[in-house]
Amino acid sequence: DLPVAGSDEVGYLTKVFNGMVWRLREGRQELDAKNEKLLQQNEELEKLSLTDGLTGLANRRFLVQQLNEEALRYRRTKKEFSVLMADVDHFKQYNDTFGHPAGDEVLKKVARILQTAVREVDCVARYGGEEFCIMLPETGATGAAILAERICARVAAAEFPGQKITLSLGVASLPDNGDTPDAVIAAADEALYQAKREGRNRVLKAPPRRIRERSSVRERNAKKKS
Ligand code: GH3
Ligand code: MG
Ligand code: MG
Repeated sequence: DLPVAGSDEVGYLTKVFNGMVWRLREGRQELDAKNEKLLQQNEELEKLSLTDGLTGLANRRFLVQQLNEEALRYRRTKKEFSVLMADVDHFKQYNDTFGHPAGDEVLKKVARILQTAVREVDCVARYGGEEFCIMLPETGATGAAILAERICARVAAAEFPGQKITLSLGVASLPDNGDTPDAVIAAADEALYQAKREGRNRVLKAPPRRIRERSSVRERNAKKKS
């Protein structure tokens, strides 16, 4: 503020000037407060757009972001990482018997079991429907399979209304089972469906790439012959 000297024209202009400065300052403060609120709301929106509404876990979009970052980090640091794909067994039948809202409660409880079984750095996501995916940084297939077995046992031992709930899980790692997030997810998915075929409520590791490639060549040759 300028000091108001006297009551002449200069004094009057100084008062007008000070009034303008004061209004500008007020306007500026209001603008700052609004900006701050907008930033907070944007952060909340960003968080919501990456969260699954039912379970509160990360959603598939967030998981894909994390997987891409981890794959880039692998290029620099050569630190492997693993992916667990988990699918609730016979979930359609559970819904049909106990209703969709009860099914939703099952998904929420399974989500809590998964979240409490992992480390802070791991990313647990609802991949879709009754399928979950966990990304484990700096973890190889052996460590990932141990965690998967623990999760499988915890879910099978947990109490759910009406009947038991079990999971089938597939485990795959980068670089053992693929060079890209998509390839690793596909390998974990394949292992998961093998676990389903072998009777459910179990964990299966994706076979190392070379064996898988060889066996698919063998399958193709067998098909050609038949
Ligand atoms: P499988 O052991 O082979 O996985 O059998 P499944 O019955 O679990 O598999 P299927 O793909 O036939 O059925 C999945 C069911 O999951 C059907 C669908 O209604 C249910 N589902 C998917 N999303 C939700 C959800 O958000 N809430 C509830 N309650 N059910 C869901
Ligand atoms: Mg499924
Ligand atoms: Mg299922």
